[in-house]
Amino acid sequence: MTVVTRFAPSPTGMLHLGGVRTALYSWLYARRMQGKFILRVEDTDRERSTEEAVRVILDGMTWLGLTADEGPYYQTQRFDRYRAVIAQMLAAGQAYHCYCTKEELDAVRAEQTARKEKPRYPGTCRNGRAPRPGVQPVVRFRNPTEGAVVVKDLVHGTVTFQNAELDDLIIARSDGTPTYNFCVVVDDMDMGVTHVIRGDDHLNNTPRQMNMLLALGATLPTYAHVPMILGPDGAKLSKRHGAVSVLQYEEEGYLPDALLNYLVRLGWAHGDQEVFTRAEMIAAFDIKDVNKAASAFNPEKLLWLNQQHMMRAEPAALVPHLRAQLRRIGLDSDDQALLEGIILAQRERAKTMKEMALNSRFFFVETVQIDPKAAAKHLAGAGKETLERVRAQLAALGEWTSGSIHAALDELAATLGAGLGKVAQPVRVAVTGTAVSPPIDVTLALLGRHRTLARIDAALGAAAGTEQHG
Ligand code: GLU
Repeated sequence: MTVVTRFAPSPTGMLHLGGVRTALYSWLYARRMQGKFILRVEDTDRERSTEEAVRVILDGMTWLGLTADEGPYYQTQRFDRYRAVIAQMLAAGQAYHCYCTKEELDAVRAEQTARKEKPRYPGTCRNGRAPRPGVQPVVRFRNPTEGAVVVKDLVHGTVTFQNAELDDLIIARSDGTPTYNFCVVVDDMDMGVTHVIRGDDHLNNTPRQMNMLLALGATLPTYAHVPMILGPDGAKLSKRHGAVSVLQYEEEGYLPDALLNYLVRLGWAHGDQEVFTRAEMIAAFDIKDVNKAASAFNPEKLLWLNQQHMMRAEPAALVPHLRAQLRRIGLDSDDQALLEGIILAQRERAKTMKEMALNSRFFFVETVQIDPKAAAKHLAGAGKETLERVRAQLAALGEWTSGSIHAALDELAATLGAGLGKVAQPVRVAVTGTAVSPPIDVTLALLGRHRTLARIDAALGAAAGTEQHG
């Protein structure tokens, strides 16, 4: 049997971490089983669905690399098919027209509530009722009244629902449009879905969907209802913590692999391994091993994992991410060697690609703004003299490499009887504008001779200017 999974988001809110994790589990399971992964947009709720939410789903899935083998399908493009199945079920007596009015149903519900019963459809039209002029009927599914539906859920275990507890569900509204649970059933059947992996807020829909699938003669899929993600405080995931569009994580400089790694580990473990590549996730993942308890979102751990992935990635693989972040702050470069060098030099001190880009501005700007505090500390008095010596030493260098720069600065430090730090700080402030940067030899090598000397000259000029005024 070929495994077929699907991710079926409703574009009524932005795709966020909870949805991404469901998508990831479906995708991983299909990849692991060498099956097929389908993307299906459940946009039948036309009032609440938005184009923006559809775009976030499509762009988010692309950014994450959760590639679909089929789709995206859109339920709004399948209405003819749903109508045909409704007609077929009506003809077979598996569904019937219901002419009850809202007023009638409200009255029944009020009585049931007064008797402290669970409100449910009383079955008035189940055995045939003459059409009523002026009332457009809905179509209801004739749910079995006896027996039970047993869901053998891969995450929750066996869950039993009594048919007596299940209503005759409306499958088409009075205007003929199909309802949500019905569309899911037809789609899962038509698309040959073998494993339904979705949020456990849908567990209560499952017995109804299974009854309809059985009525249609479809093979029942296996179900796996995955738990919710809670906020760090144990409450529902809020906007402040993760319930934001997945694309926000791209903007913040997270790597898709790190985000997926973080999400796969929420409620699933493989020994004590924390860092997984995509291939490792695929090899190790099994939906059966997912925990049924909800897990709490931990932003610090996500940040930690992000840096782990930055440290382990091939620098070339990070170049597009760095460039994307640089563009966001109005900078760019297509110098591959420079970009890879910056990544190697900076990744120990940045937890996100955004942070790396911000820390690396000085490589790309025309002139640096020197932080006045750093200037006062390192470019005045003795600092200025040291900088002049550094300039002379560097200007005389034959080849311009981190090795030769290092040797030159070492030599000068020895001559001055000072530590390397004393020699490095003035030049660091002069070329980067601040007192913090990667090792000075690597920094200057990446910056190049011309720009290094020009920035030192500018800083010396500025320092001279300050002294004249002072
Ligand atoms: N459209 C549903 C949702 O976004 C998922 C339905 C399903 O996976 O069966 O919650």
